[in-house]
Amino acid sequence: MLKYAVIADTYEKIEATTKRLEMIDLLVNLLKNTPIEVMGKVVYLTQGKIYPDFVNLEIGVAEKLAVKAVAWASGRKESEIQKNLEMAGDIGDTAQTFIADKRQVTFFQQPLTVQRIYETLEKMAKASGSGAIDLKISLLAGLLADATPKEAKYIMRTVTGNLRLGIADMTVLDALAVAYGGGKEARKFIERAYNVSSDLGRVAVTVAEKGLEGIKKFRVSIGKPIRSMLAERLSSPEEILEKLGGKCIAEYKYDGERIQAHKEGAKTMLFSRRLESISDQYPDAIELLNNYVNAEDAILEAECVAIDPDTGEMRSFQELMHRRRKYGIGKAMEEYPISLFMFDALYVDGKDLTLKPYPVRRHALEEIIKESDRIKVAQHIVTDDVKELEKFFQEAVENGCEGLLCKSIAGDSVYQAGARGWLWIKYKRDYKSEMTDTVDLVVVGAFHGRGKRAGTYGALLLAAYDAEKDVFETVTKCGTGFTDEDLANLPKMLQKHKITQKHPRVKSIIKADVWFEPVVVIEVLGAEMTLSPVHVCAIDTIRKGSGLAIRFPRFTGNYRLDKSAEDATTSAEILKMYRNQLRKISET
Ligand code: ATP
Repeated sequence: MLKYAVIADTYEKIEATTKRLEMIDLLVNLLKNTPIEVMGKVVYLTQGKIYPDFVNLEIGVAEKLAVKAVAWASGRKESEIQKNLEMAGDIGDTAQTFIADKRQVTFFQQPLTVQRIYETLEKMAKASGSGAIDLKISLLAGLLADATPKEAKYIMRTVTGNLRLGIADMTVLDALAVAYGGGKEARKFIERAYNVSSDLGRVAVTVAEKGLEGIKKFRVSIGKPIRSMLAERLSSPEEILEKLGGKCIAEYKYDGERIQAHKEGAKTMLFSRRLESISDQYPDAIELLNNYVNAEDAILEAECVAIDPDTGEMRSFQELMHRRRKYGIGKAMEEYPISLFMFDALYVDGKDLTLKPYPVRRHALEEIIKESDRIKVAQHIVTDDVKELEKFFQEAVENGCEGLLCKSIAGDSVYQAGARGWLWIKYKRDYKSEMTDTVDLVVVGAFHGRGKRAGTYGALLLAAYDAEKDVFETVTKCGTGFTDEDLANLPKMLQKHKITQKHPRVKSIIKADVWFEPVVVIEVLGAEMTLSPVHVCAIDTIRKGSGLAIRFPRFTGNYRLDKSAEDATTSAEILKMYRNQLRKISET
């Protein structure tokens, strides 16, 4: 049994110090005096919480409710409490004052234990429905009735989310190392346990109960999010290959939201990069994982990207942001469908893979993912060649990605939970050229549609006009912005221009399913322009071997029937737009 008074005393001393070492000493002392049964609870409480962050449950006492509870417990009027609070500015101080000056003296005060405090706070957090507010007030007033003034202060700060002792997670880890790990050197093992579980309470219980040996054997477990591994950044393929020992696995760096999936049988939970639970936001991702992951239990990482359901092309990050909502998920799911690109396997069927090298983890991932249109393992190459890496980078950008993530394949390329290190190196576009104006482009080819668009075109291949050479150079593939009516009419409208092979005046590396004479002009707005290895507009002018491309193009609805193909936007104009809008992307 541990009295809450012991905790309150420690809090008071911690508040009085500005020195981190003193803070650690105070915590060490508290943790040493804490019985194992309440170890986890004490650790959460020092953080002003009752659960680790990834559990979406807060005690959630609003100011009004707090005032009521203090009024009840002290036998004073709510208005008096409110007035004092306005002056003091802190509900903890107010509670301390009024509890010290109680009108109704209780004769049979029960000393508060940590157990009782914790259980009561837990009941408050779980209270829901119509009677929730009254229940919370009476539970809280019950605690205050038995509290000393000092205890009342800290209870009130805890329930209102204002404890703010400044005890960082890392400070608790230091204190645990000294209290139970045999000294500061134990910190790195304890920290690893924390990084693979995000649960300070569980880590504390493990080290207190099983010591350093126990913490060294700490394994990841389903339901406890693993802190994300992050990448360093370099700006040339040469530097990257050199840093990674001459050879690496390079993967597309998809531009979406990171998801850590915890699959346990038929149940799957999702966590965000910041380890918040986001299962409710992505029922479609959960369904994909349930259907296409061939393992009973697994912890996997993926980038979730918005896609155009008809063309399968990736949409911009902004489009995915429409999925960040609490209500109307069903509709948002229809309008903004997603694909998953899997990029790591941290645990599969009883095996903790976090300490295995990346090639082993990637292999495990490839083994269990049954790929479909909507779920794929991240596109990759294994390379030791600068040119090949650069080409793959261009291709990634062209396909709607931010660039590449180049990953170490060395024997020590473990999953560095919670760390930004050199085992992963990102190679991103340095420049971004935004598009503000629409362009008029010539339809030179088309691709057959899939799904809802079967029987019509999924996307059109569009070109700009090079007036000097008198040719049409492809600049983008556009499948967005067409109404159902447009889609029904397009094949009819383009039918009379259909030809059996690429028109001699059309320059294209891409092979379209259908080719047209360059006649029809449509208006398009894109989000930005990039260099591209597959489009040939203004090729070789900015960089050898690269043309310019328009990313995320959308048909505006205007068929420029008034324009002939030679009146379309020229390659020179596109080049000028690219240069004018070019801006350095801020370093991240
Ligand atoms: P950024 O703005 O560059 O995403 P960041 O700090 O969020 O910065 P980084 O460490 O730079 O993260 O890059 C890693 C992020 O890239 C991951 O969090 C993940 O969301 C995303 N990502 C996309 N594709 C991959 C991939 N194939 N492998 C790993 N991460 C990927």
